[in-house]
Amino acid sequence: MIGVVVLGSTGSIGENTLDVLERHPDRFRLVAIGANRSVEKLAQQILRHRPAYAALADEAAARALRARLGGQAPHTRVLAGPEALEELATLPEAECVMAAIVGAAGLKSTLAAARAGKRLLLANKESLVMSGPLLMDAVREGGATLLPIDSEHNAIFQCLPHGSRAGEAPAGVRRLLLTASGGPFRDLPAETIAAATPEQAVAHPNWVMGRKISVDSATLMNKGLELIEACFLFGLPPEGVDIVIHPQSIIHSLVEYVDGSVLAQLGSPDMRTPIAHALAWPQRMSSGVAFLDLVKTARLDFRAPDPDRFRCLALAQAAARTGGVAPVLLNAANEVAVHAFLERQLNFPGIASVIEEVITCCPAGKIGGLDDVLAADAEARLRAHESIHARSGAAPAYGEARA
Ligand code: NDP
Repeated sequence: MIGVVVLGSTGSIGENTLDVLERHPDRFRLVAIGANRSVEKLAQQILRHRPAYAALADEAAARALRARLGGQAPHTRVLAGPEALEELATLPEAECVMAAIVGAAGLKSTLAAARAGKRLLLANKESLVMSGPLLMDAVREGGATLLPIDSEHNAIFQCLPHGSRAGEAPAGVRRLLLTASGGPFRDLPAETIAAATPEQAVAHPNWVMGRKISVDSATLMNKGLELIEACFLFGLPPEGVDIVIHPQSIIHSLVEYVDGSVLAQLGSPDMRTPIAHALAWPQRMSSGVAFLDLVKTARLDFRAPDPDRFRCLALAQAAARTGGVAPVLLNAANEVAVHAFLERQLNFPGIASVIEEVITCCPAGKIGGLDDVLAADAEARLRAHESIHARSGAAPAYGEARA
């Protein structure tokens, strides 16, 4: 029985992970689950899955959870506070940690799991974008096994030569091709995109995901974050990773070899495939995903991304080339800007504008340690808030485009 901890269990990846685990009660034991403040959802998960531990980062929510459970879950110890998530990530009873907290909030628990030598199932791409060199060192030094959950990186992992090591350029690979659905606005003109509402931005055509990553998909920042993630995971420079728009989301990514071979991984767009793959690796197990019907799929289209309509991708590519804390600034500014957009304090094109302003005004120094990452993250968040505040005075109502 493999002990598993699911951090971010109340989110989209977390729920998909519990779904896959539940299909294999003979192989996996759910040791712990954790989230931020979704009291009712976590209570339901505790009562259904009976983990030994559960934690909420928000202390008041954790108190409410204890009250909600009453005496119904004597098998589960409820912990509170952000540090409780780090504790869960290092529990000796678990070999495997699913890192599925969204955003920078997942950084410390992800690093803790790597240092503790766990099998680390990485969905929280933001932690790798922010602290790539530190996380890869922690994986090596802690003896952890890093397995990507992002469908694109999981696809690449599946197409690499057997024995490839995390962070080291695989032999014979010429370039990686990350596929992107293009998001809900891929076919819309710039003027229409400029007036996009949060409801339109989170309505992804192919995937059901959390709100933040859905907006990232609409801006193509998600693909930019994935490019940075791919560089760290597979040891390639940004020039070795290309992006191609593939609206059907059937090919999840490709690896091009020096002999002209291109290997791809295909499947229905359902995150339970990469989750099941990483849980069972190097074996295979069922995931509950509908099998691919190629005849029904009929066609697979490809085109280049449009950098004029989707400025976030170019900003991420530039941050990847600059390196150091540039990706930290990019990620922090993006998190703040996306949150403001979802709260209707910023319009859709404002997301890219805020990020650009933050990257331009904050110094892009080197990463010597976690303090550098946290300092750059804090500085970028402050600048992003200032930029949003400065814009909000003249911000047009939704439905109007800002020049
Ligand atoms: P969701 O928004 O659906 O869920 C986020 C999870 O993180 C929730 O469990 C939430 O808890 C928890 N969380 C949020 N803030 C904190 C915090 N401060 N402390 C502790 N926990 C917190 O996100 P997704 O599942 O969509 O995404 C999770 C990660 O996986 C992201 O990094 C995303 O980029 C990545 N990913 C997601 C994919 C998808 O298909 N959804 C695909 C590929 C990657 P609570 O409910 O209490 O707020």
